[in-house]
Amino acid sequence: MQPVIPFIAAPGYRFTTQWVDVLQQALPECTVVPVEFLSSDQRTQVEVAVVANPDPQTLRLLPNLKWVHSVWAGVERLLSDLQDWQLPVVRLKDPELARTMAEAVLAWAMYLHRDMPAYRQLQAERRWQPLEYTPARARRVSVLGTGELGGTALKLLQQTGFQVSGWSRRGNGPEGVRCFSGEQGLQAMLAETDILVLLLPLTPQTRGLVNAALLKKLPAGAALINFARGDIVDDADLRTALDTKHLRHAVLDVFSQEPLPAPSWHWSHPSVTVLPHISAPTTRDTAAQIVAQNLRRWLASGEIPESVDLQQGY
Ligand code: NAP
Repeated sequence: MQPVIPFIAAPGYRFTTQWVDVLQQALPECTVVPVEFLSSDQRTQVEVAVVANPDPQTLRLLPNLKWVHSVWAGVERLLSDLQDWQLPVVRLKDPELARTMAEAVLAWAMYLHRDMPAYRQLQAERRWQPLEYTPARARRVSVLGTGELGGTALKLLQQTGFQVSGWSRRGNGPEGVRCFSGEQGLQAMLAETDILVLLLPLTPQTRGLVNAALLKKLPAGAALINFARGDIVDDADLRTALDTKHLRHAVLDVFSQEPLPAPSWHWSHPSVTVLPHISAPTTRDTAAQIVAQNLRRWLASGEIPESVDLQQGY
């Protein structure tokens, strides 16, 4: 009998059929079905599910579930929904996702580096005014989070000629990149940062980390790129830093509430670029191949891939 693998998404998710098709192609030896289509017999057979922000109540209908594989890299919502349920959660680690994110970090770092927001404004005012050029080798770009995404972004930024630094819990990062850890390390790095990029997971430790105190450590005129999660930034403190022009500009791809509500101040702030959570969309084909490899290895050997540290929250 073929193993049955349900795909479980948030209610109303629009791409269930596409995910089921691509996963079925990658796993012809299994039966991949939307969870709603499982018979009650099949529900008791299920030991692993592929998930995209599932409703935890749906997971609890699978009495023999041993682990779940998320198709997203960020799993903070799933972890908070599961709470005391010690179910191993494997998140997506896809080099294609890291490449896409690094490309986005480079694109928007360039946007800030080459003063595009200022030139856009000058054009709106019909003003012909060259601004002083700063070479990339004099521009300091720092990344909070040096994991799968932050590490790949740092390498690309470094290859492009920027002065780069990274900060992480353990102070590790790509070879040849100056990396910091701890509160003191963070302060030292921030003092030498022109563009700060956020690529941390959202955990109890990182929620609200980027607040007034942290922003004050940045030199006046620095800029921020948030491609991680909205709640890592204290929104009111960010607004103050922008209003007082301590921060030159913020490129925001993620928000506490998404979609960003129409009355939100971010839309019309002259120093904010709003993006609709597009910095690194999951590529279904490559993600399905990675999920399939992990499931196949587990079916053959019973080995569950490295799962999220439930204590650390990432
Ligand atoms: P990852 O491989 O787990 O890397 C996380 C990094 O953050 C690691 O370097 C880790 O340090 C560091 N870190 C975690 N908690 C920390 C703390 N309290 N203090 C200092 N450093 C800390 O994660 P990833 O795959 O790079 O993904 C990062 C995040 O990107 C995801 O969680 C998700 O929220 C976000 N994301 C956004 C998009 C988008 O489209 N906007 C797409 C995908 C993902 P250690 O190395 O020491 O463990």
